[in-house]
Amino acid sequence: MRITDVRVIVTCPGRNYVLVKIITDEGVYGVGDATLNGRELAVAETLDKHIAPLLIGRDPDRIEDTWQYLYRGAYWRGGPVLMTALAGVDMALWDIKGKVCGKPVYSLLGGKTREGALGYTHCAGRDFAEVEDSVRQAMAQGFKVIRAQVSIPGLPSTYGQGGQKEAALATWGEASLPMVEVWEPGPYLRTIPRLFEHLRSRLGDEVELLHDVHERLNPVQAARLARELEPFHLFFLEDPLRPEHQPSLRLVRQAATTPIAMGELYTSLWECLPVITEQLIDFIRCDLVHSGGITGARKIAAIAEPYGVQTAWHGPGDAAPITHAANVHMDIAIPNFGVQEMVFFPEQVQEVIPGGPTFRDGSLYVSDAPGLGTDVNEEAARKYPYRRAYLPIARRQDGSMHDW
Ligand SMILES: [Mg+2]
Repeated sequence: MRITDVRVIVTCPGRNYVLVKIITDEGVYGVGDATLNGRELAVAETLDKHIAPLLIGRDPDRIEDTWQYLYRGAYWRGGPVLMTALAGVDMALWDIKGKVCGKPVYSLLGGKTREGALGYTHCAGRDFAEVEDSVRQAMAQGFKVIRAQVSIPGLPSTYGQGGQKEAALATWGEASLPMVEVWEPGPYLRTIPRLFEHLRSRLGDEVELLHDVHERLNPVQAARLARELEPFHLFFLEDPLRPEHQPSLRLVRQAATTPIAMGELYTSLWECLPVITEQLIDFIRCDLVHSGGITGARKIAAIAEPYGVQTAWHGPGDAAPITHAANVHMDIAIPNFGVQEMVFFPEQVQEVIPGGPTFRDGSLYVSDAPGLGTDVNEEAARKYPYRRAYLPIARRQDGSMHDW
């Protein structure tokens, strides 16, 4: 079997997606996700102009060799653009392998260790009462693990506080330029422990709660927050530090027993190594679509296993349902799965990319169809042309740039 064509499909059914379709001479094809939020066309061009010519004529069965060829053979390697392109190809090749074998990808990864993947959703509100209300609604939907965010008094609304709806849709600023948010650590650090004190006092201890810092704190601030959240027993504190601050996780670790999840901005196994092997985190939450696909992630998971680190793969709305399916195939196969971030995709996304995971009673499930179980409807994709969009940016009150 040989690869005869690589199609790159850019579409915007509510937000932008870059999809890869790899076609073989035997008519079998595979689909992958190569979406990099806010820099989509950089990946699409990389795939179309640089990577597709390297794939024509190759045997699609040789996934590992193709991964090594694209990663090591480039000389200038790694980084979000190249790793996202690589992930798109990798997912499509796993999809082909599954279809050729007549097996779902989870079976090729060793088979099921569990039936479904415990999911977590996003809840938010303008004040504590609204967050509580949102969490209660999620609990009624069946969620057992819930992320809680709240608007910070005195600051205009910040990203992540729109809950489930925001997680599934893109935001467009004026003239399709990034929206600017104002961020101050002081009010944030005063508010978040009070939010969880409120939620625990109203909701009890059973529901698992977590909070996403979005990499916005410096090391000592993150240590303080982790310590002040200790009495409320979070499932984890998500991405407390910038990805560049790996050694500073020692400070957070020494300060508190609040479990730490890190890594949605890591793009390689090598970035994960020190935080796993030094046991500075409890959950590794790489994004399959930005860290080399299934081939990259399964190595990260395997290294994490003996260190007692569980997985919590990134699962945002800007990753296509193909990535969400790949997440769940991994989740139900690996022994050290922890939790899976998820969104409910709008109807038009499901029209373009059918077959993503389904949610039932707190967990996510994939079908037993061969491959990843997802597809790309190219005709539907054409109805939704690319539309430039960016994530918001954050500035301090004095106007200076802050981490996203
Ligand atoms: Mg996050």
